[in-house]
Amino acid sequence: MSLLICIDPGHGGPDTGATGFGLREADVALQLAELVGEKFNDYEGVAVTFTRNKNTSSSYPGPPEGLRKRIAYANNKNADLFLSLHCNAGGGSGFESFIAKGAPARTQRIQKAINDQVLSYLKGHGIGPHGNPAKVDSQAARSRIAVLRDTKMSAVLLESLFIDNAKENKLLRDHRFLDGLAGAIAKGIAVEFGLKEKIDKLKPMYRVMVDGKEIVDTAYINKISEEVVKAIQAQKREITIKKL
Ligand SMILES: [Zn+2]
Repeated sequence: MSLLICIDPGHGGPDTGATGFGLREADVALQLAELVGEKFNDYEGVAVTFTRNKNTSSSYPGPPEGLRKRIAYANNKNADLFLSLHCNAGGGSGFESFIAKGAPARTQRIQKAINDQVLSYLKGHGIGPHGNPAKVDSQAARSRIAVLRDTKMSAVLLESLFIDNAKENKLLRDHRFLDGLAGAIAKGIAVEFGLKEKIDKLKPMYRVMVDGKEIVDTAYINKISEEVVKAIQAQKREITIKKL
């Protein structure tokens, strides 16, 4: 039996989501989604699929049609979990997650497991919850909550930090921070679903550094080459790959 997780990077295409200091929520959500997806490579018996990627996002219709398509996509795929990734805005700070009103106990447990891991990770960066971090949508307003209500599987929506908060905006631009956040999200899900880490996690880890800045610690060759290509394209001066 394999678990299928449908990762939904919020917004996309003409819908930028919230913006802060020139950073677009849609871009952060996509980057975080890709990182979360990668983290599941470390676990047995799990596959991921995405409601959008960098190729579809330029033509992706905005809500509400976009939301209906995302819901239909996840339902048709028969995913076991729908994970929607967003950033908050509006002058607050911190992390919170939403599930639909009346969601089953399983969904509540998944929300709690993700929150526990994420909040413990964020604590190390001086970031706390935004009020009660485990919110139940009251259907009061936000249309994106349709993805919680109308998906057939467990669905959780994460609002990771405030894009219009200067300190949090800075973190959301930091690839290493997002990578750690992605690891915490994946770990929460892995804990709740009892996923086992792959034995080949024992593969050697390498650290990629660009101009003296740590970019990523990874055992995956694809990830290493991706970062090297990125650095070359950005005409960085020094790229080092060190075995840990
Ligand atoms: Zn959003």
